[in-house]
Amino acid sequence: RPVCLLVLGMAGSGKTTFVQRLTAHLHSHTCPPYVINLDPAVHSVPFPANIDIRDTVNYKQVMQQYGLGPNGGIVTALNLFATRFDQVMQFLEKKQQNHRFVLIDTPGQIEVFTWSASGTIITEALASSFPCVVLYVMDTSRSVSPVTFMSNMLYACSILYKTKLPFIVVMNKTDIIDHRFAVDWMQDFEVFQDALNQETSYVSNLTRSMSLVLDQFYADLRVVGVSAVTGSGLDELLVQVEDAAAEYDRDYRPEYERLR
Ligand code: GDP
Ligand code: MG
Repeated sequence: RPVCLLVLGMAGSGKTTFVQRLTAHLHSHTCPPYVINLDPAVHSVPFPANIDIRDTVNYKQVMQQYGLGPNGGIVTALNLFATRFDQVMQFLEKKQQNHRFVLIDTPGQIEVFTWSASGTIITEALASSFPCVVLYVMDTSRSVSPVTFMSNMLYACSILYKTKLPFIVVMNKTDIIDHRFAVDWMQDFEVFQDALNQETSYVSNLTRSMSLVLDQFYADLRVVGVSAVTGSGLDELLVQVEDAAAEYDRDYRPEYERLR
């Protein structure tokens, strides 16, 4: 059975570019993925999508028809698509022999997927039939401040709780900045505290306490540095994906199979 890779992350973190690069990478290893675009508002999809939400729902029309703004339009488009997700599952069941991976790109704004009924419906449908792994893409170059890094990690933590799936933090844009500094912060909270040391504001004091709490979260976390532009780090990512898929089978599958 293929492994479903659910690509989540803040707007602009590089999800779509990452899916494009990973798709090309897998093609070059004669392991073409099955690719699904769930972003109804994207202008053009830069990868060959087997299923594209835009073929089913027209988000501009949805906005007009229901008198919604852009955000309401995206949420409603995803809701409409979720009501027909059983058809997507049928396609996947039919094609499952041909693909080792299913890649799923999600809407730019992360909360549209992670904090909506439709996101939950789609995640549960996928995870009750296939091994599923969350790839949390983050913009490393925009996380160089300890406080911003911490808020990004807290968000990652909340998604881990929300999805209850094996999790990989994909530190993207390593062509701009090496992700080593972030790994150092996660491995040794004293290094992180040193980086904070100059500051004594309320936020930095809170961040100091938070880093102690997150120590346990970091301890079991898979982290990979990649560049969606150059493709560096993708082989290492695939190793981590296999490990996470094994974790799904071991620890998560029973919970999701109960939903079938
Ligand atoms: P999404 O909103 O998460 O889907 O993000 P996009 O894939 O649309 O990327 C947002 C911006 O980041 C675009 O301008 C991309 O060219 C840029 N970007 C994405 N990945 C990388 C990367 O690895 N390195 C660099 N330098 N830029 C990137
Ligand atoms: Mg995108």
